[in-house]
Amino acid sequence: MASNDSLTGALTRRALYELGENEVARSVRLGTKLSALMLDLDHFKEINDQYGHQMGDRVLSDFVQRTHGILRRPSILGRYGGEEFVALLPDTDLEEARMVAERIRNSLSTNPDLPRCEVSIGLATFEHTQSDSLRDLIARADAGVYRAKELGRNRVEEAPPSGHPISVPHFATAG
Ligand code: GH3
Ligand code: MG
Ligand code: MG
Repeated sequence: MASNDSLTGALTRRALYELGENEVARSVRLGTKLSALMLDLDHFKEINDQYGHQMGDRVLSDFVQRTHGILRRPSILGRYGGEEFVALLPDTDLEEARMVAERIRNSLSTNPDLPRCEVSIGLATFEHTQSDSLRDLIARADAGVYRAKELGRNRVEEAPPSGHPISVPHFATAG
């Protein structure tokens, strides 16, 4: 089974999880840091609508190429969904991950041959103190994307602390 997505060259989701489990095991064994980024291109549907699906494909490939150029070797970048990607950053703490994310975000709008595209990035770091898992790490990065979208897109955010959702449901509270 191919481990790279044919359009972008990023890892498939399955390969990302396989390599990711290895990285989690290594991080647990050695007590090293491990962070994750979830990257979701902003208003990507509009790029397809305005410039066509083929141009959308070129934007996706260009994004992956730029991101590979910024991640440390060997980079672990997977295509998580259509225009959603996950990067795993071994030996990287949250603040370093934030700098990597900002570098990726700032690298986007610089290709004059392609339509302008922005990205929202969620970040999270592996917690050695809890019963953390790859799945939970990625879920927290995803919650960070959700927050970044809510706060206006084209930004880097962590998941809100658990129990403090950014959008509070409108419960009718008595008293
Ligand atoms: P948001 O800022 O909220 O993320 O908006 P969005 O438009 O990026 O999000 P949405 O999930 O509504 O749309 C994602 C779009 O990505 C729709 C889909 O057609 C497009 N897409 C997914 N995979 C591919 C692909 O391989 N090639 C192209 N050209 N477009 C793709
Ligand atoms: Mg999306
Ligand atoms: Mg999107």
